[in-house]
Amino acid sequence: MKIGIPRALLYSIYLPLWKTFLESLGHQIVMSSHTDKKILDNGVKFCVDDACLPIKIFHGHVMDLAHKTDAVLVPRLVSIHPEEYICPKFIGLPEMIKHSVPGSPSLLVMDYNARSGTEKAYHGMKTLGRELGASEKLIKRALSEARIRQAEHERRMEREKGLNPAHALDGKGMEGIIRLEQGTIGLIGHPYLVYDQFINMDICNKLAARGYGTVFPENIPMADIEAACKRYPKKMFWSYGKRLLGAGLTMMGDRQVDGLILLTSFGCGIDSFVDELLVIANRRKYKLPLTIITLDEHTGQAGFNTRLEAFIDMIEWRRRYDNYIPAHGLAVYTGKGTFR
Ligand code: SF4
Repeated sequence: MKIGIPRALLYSIYLPLWKTFLESLGHQIVMSSHTDKKILDNGVKFCVDDACLPIKIFHGHVMDLAHKTDAVLVPRLVSIHPEEYICPKFIGLPEMIKHSVPGSPSLLVMDYNARSGTEKAYHGMKTLGRELGASEKLIKRALSEARIRQAEHERRMEREKGLNPAHALDGKGMEGIIRLEQGTIGLIGHPYLVYDQFINMDICNKLAARGYGTVFPENIPMADIEAACKRYPKKMFWSYGKRLLGAGLTMMGDRQVDGLILLTSFGCGIDSFVDELLVIANRRKYKLPLTIITLDEHTGQAGFNTRLEAFIDMIEWRRRYDNYIPAHGLAVYTGKGTFR
């Protein structure tokens, strides 16, 4: 069977697991195109108005696959780590697609729920394997191979700082741009914003053109993220909230970056909370240049570029003049080679 996988939402993180599993069961995988204007327009047109931009774009990717495949995979991610959840929009995604996409293609819904333990998370994949007519032996072998590939992908993301996982999946690999001549910017946001060049207006290349490398949340080891989040009295039970918060705190705390950009999509409840925690932590302790850029379908290149350029100017002006004008409350330059 020809199965389509939308190049949207968490595909850049979980593609090795899904693709290897389905290919090992003997199916052919077709990826949707990279996000473009047509995909965005279709998503905006057919998804409900209240959804966030990444969910709308997922609809556009399903439409892109509709006439190229026999069925489209729509993962129903409920939880990706024990005792944690991810955004509920992922839970209702198959139903949203079914009722919104015109002439909806045949959908393969694959549940993934690690809430009660990692092993239990794979029940949904086994169920899908059975629905596709595979034997228990083949499902077991396919799942084992898929988990190995997934673990390799996750290790690589943590090992190679500056690696964009979506590029790695396209075979582009490491671009070696973690630190360019001007420094490094931490880009904090959900994978579907940070790794999708169209949605994020090609921010990485724009930063590189100004001499800045980028480091991403997936490049920070989970142990560091857990340790950074321990400072808060309550456990962050949104998995991606924890990753973004812990990654941002680690980057700032270890001085891995010269500034932080928080990319968020309009109307995202998780980001509204996490971004505020990062802003407060930065204001109280780290005092690095930080900005929040909100994306939705109305975001234009011109406004986006202006925000980005203002942020870079802020870093550079601060580097050059901050000894004289301590806007963030640190030492004042006396003009005699000493600070007071
Ligand atoms: S976490 Fe935010 S951006 Fe992601 S799907 Fe949910 S509302 Fe949308």
